Amino acid sequence: MPFRPVERLRSIEPSQIRENMRIAREVNAINLAQGRPDFPTDPAILMSAVRAIADGHNQYSVSWGLEELRVAVADSLAERFGVGFDPDAEVTITCGVTEAMVAAIMSLVQDGDEVIVIEPAHENYVPAIRFAGGEPKFVTLRPPDYALTVDELEQAATERTRAIILNTPHNPSGHVFTREETRLLLDFCARRNCYLITDEIYDQLLYDEYEHIMPAAEARNTEIEEKGLIVTTGGLSKIYAATGWRLGYVAATSELTNYIRTVHDYLTICAPTPLQHAAVTALSLPESYYQDLRQSFTRRRAQIMSILKDTGFTPYEPQGAYYLMAEFEKWNFEGDSDAFTRMLILDGGIATVPGTAFYYRDKELGKRLVRFSFAKSEETIESVRELLEHCYEREAAPLSG
Ligand code: PLP
Repeated sequence: MPFRPVERLRSIEPSQIRENMRIAREVNAINLAQGRPDFPTDPAILMSAVRAIADGHNQYSVSWGLEELRVAVADSLAERFGVGFDPDAEVTITCGVTEAMVAAIMSLVQDGDEVIVIEPAHENYVPAIRFAGGEPKFVTLRPPDYALTVDELEQAATERTRAIILNTPHNPSGHVFTREETRLLLDFCARRNCYLITDEIYDQLLYDEYEHIMPAAEARNTEIEEKGLIVTTGGLSKIYAATGWRLGYVAATSELTNYIRTVHDYLTICAPTPLQHAAVTALSLPESYYQDLRQSFTRRRAQIMSILKDTGFTPYEPQGAYYLMAEFEKWNFEGDSDAFTRMLILDGGIATVPGTAFYYRDKELGKRLVRFSFAKSEETIESVRELLEHCYEREAAPLSG
């Protein structure tokens, strides 16, 4: 009997990032495709995990997360943004933001509900909406400033709009949503009684004078807080270079949290117990850890910007996170970004992601853009310069000279 795929999964395409990574591994290319840091995890965090394992913390934890970790998450958010989540009733520890999003969306969205996704978008949101039987609707941000407008939001909204997903600092553009943009979203949600689900996984990674505006903090003492319409997610993957540990959190009203915890329990039971112990150590690192992180990423951002400008790209400088989008007009390359990134892997030895992977409604916009991740050591980034120079000379030479 032929295999009959589940209807709601048919429209979900396999991850383009992982596909480019697979080809990259085959040809041993430098991986600037995935947001996987190649700097070491802090030794204090590592030792804490080793200790937790040796001390026998190897069984299931409380499904919704170790109490110490929930308290540490709530304390960290209170200290940094002045928000007051109750660790007992409002914070759940998940297997990464990826699971936090799925659990939140499964708890809120049912067949026929619409969820607004701000594109370009991290590739996990649309599948999560589809898993729940929802329908994604899109608001499109455009380079160079990737600013959000209220008109676009209103156009995407219908009476079936159940939620909006906001990722700030934003992957892939590096845009940090301003206070004005955040208020606009909060007003919109309050007016339409729809949820704002945030992904704040890069909340500690900002450049220059940019400031992370936490929507839940901005909403304090307003109608949207009263209505309980904000769901906050965040995680440890990126800031602590621990993407393989699968640790994240979701904070929401206690009523919604009950449902989120049920989904989480049946999906994964709990996040890895010894690593939850180590996460408590991660959250207690001193402020200097984050300052060093920002400084070293500021250097990497300058490095990659300079390399890309010197090799025929027009890169858009990110305000936060560790990705940037770049146009490749000057390469005189005939194909779109899919073809371009394949050429870059095979001829240049560098894996990136085509802009089309992040655009859904306006795919055209993604066809001239490539995303570079610069979560790499300065040596690795420097080695990209030579590879790109050679590749640019080979590709652009017949037309430019
Ligand atoms: N959210 C964003 C915006 C990301 O860029 C990523 C990873 O690239 C994730 C979530 C995945 O997070 P986690 O490892 O916590 O599942």
